[in-house]
Amino acid sequence: MRRVSIFGATGSIGQNTIDLIARAPDDYDVVALTGATNVTQLAKDAKRLQADLAVTSEEDLLPELRALLAGSGVEAAAGDAAIKEAAGRPADWVMSAIVGAAGLVPGLEALGQGATLALANKESMVCAGQLMFDAERDGGGKILPVDSEHSAVFQALIGEDLSAVERVIITASGGAFRDWSLEEMARATPEQAATHPNWDMGQRITIDSASLFNKAMELIETREFFRIDPAKIEAVVHPESMIHALVGFNDGALMAHVGPPDMRHAIGFALHHPHRKALPVERLDLVKLGQFTFRAADETRYPALRLAREVMQTGGLSGAVFNAAKETALDAFLSRQIGFLQMAEVVEATLLEISRRGGCIDAAFSLDNVLAADHLARHVARETAARIS
Ligand code: NDP
Ligand code: MG
Repeated sequence: MRRVSIFGATGSIGQNTIDLIARAPDDYDVVALTGATNVTQLAKDAKRLQADLAVTSEEDLLPELRALLAGSGVEAAAGDAAIKEAAGRPADWVMSAIVGAAGLVPGLEALGQGATLALANKESMVCAGQLMFDAERDGGGKILPVDSEHSAVFQALIGEDLSAVERVIITASGGAFRDWSLEEMARATPEQAATHPNWDMGQRITIDSASLFNKAMELIETREFFRIDPAKIEAVVHPESMIHALVGFNDGALMAHVGPPDMRHAIGFALHHPHRKALPVERLDLVKLGQFTFRAADETRYPALRLAREVMQTGGLSGAVFNAAKETALDAFLSRQIGFLQMAEVVEATLLEISRRGGCIDAAFSLDNVLAADHLARHVARETAARIS
């Protein structure tokens, strides 16, 4: 039996992970499940999977979680410290699917105890890729990508020599507004941005898909994960979302990863790695699909991509600043304080202001410095959003 824990169990990735695990209950011993606001779902899954522990990040929801778990034998806990403690409990495989920079500390903790970390939380890689790989090395664990593009690149690179890689292309659906004019996008509401044409995901990543901030994060994630020269990494719009990434080699071969837009493929790949096991995902009928199309990912239309390039060039703690500014800008858009296109303005102004102040981005790579950069960037981004609103 493999001991597994799922961080962000109540979210879209978490629920897809539970779907796979619940199909083979005898194979898994569930250690911890965590969530935030949805304690009803958390308790239901913890009881169904007979987890040792269920944790909510919201301390005021502990009485409710306790009541829901009464008599079940599942331990209840709450707060960020309890999530960290849960990540330190021995497990063989841990899903990192909390949304946002809040996923960083539990991921590091899980790697510290030697677990295989299935990483959906791209924010950890963008903010602190180096710390993640240090923790992997020190703890003896392993990080496996779950983001579909990075799982695709990882699979295309199996058995290959990294020095033969000429380019890595990750695809973007283009999100909800791919056929909208900039004027229409300027007036877009959070509800319109939170509808994805192909993927069924959490609200925040869906809106980031419409602004291409998700793709911007993924460019940086590609750089951090595979240590590939940023000049070799590109994004292309592929509205069908069937090809997730392509790796180009120096002999001209382009290896594409093709599959339906169903995260259970990338989750299941990470769950069973290094083996492949049958997964309950649709098998593509190529003739029925007929064609795959591509468009340029225009950096004028999507300034997030240009900003990601700057971050990859700057390096240091600029990824942590970028992510925190992006999360804060998204909060400001969700609360209707700023418009859809103003999110990129907030992120750009925050990056500029923080580099003008100096010190923060060049600080040594430590968890404290990453968290300090995150904190400062949120503060500057909130001020910027208030100023331009
Ligand atoms: P969801 O919003 O659906 O789920 C987020 C999860 O994190 C929920 O369990 C939520 O709890 C929990 N959570 C939210 N805030 C906190 C916090 N401060 N502390 C602890 N837990 C918290 O997100 P997704 O599942 O869509 O995405 C999860 C991660 O995976 C993100 O990093 C995303 O970028 C990445 N990803 C997602 C993909 C997808 O298909 N959805 C694809 C590729 C990557 P609750 O719901 O109980 O409030
Ligand atoms: Mg992705």
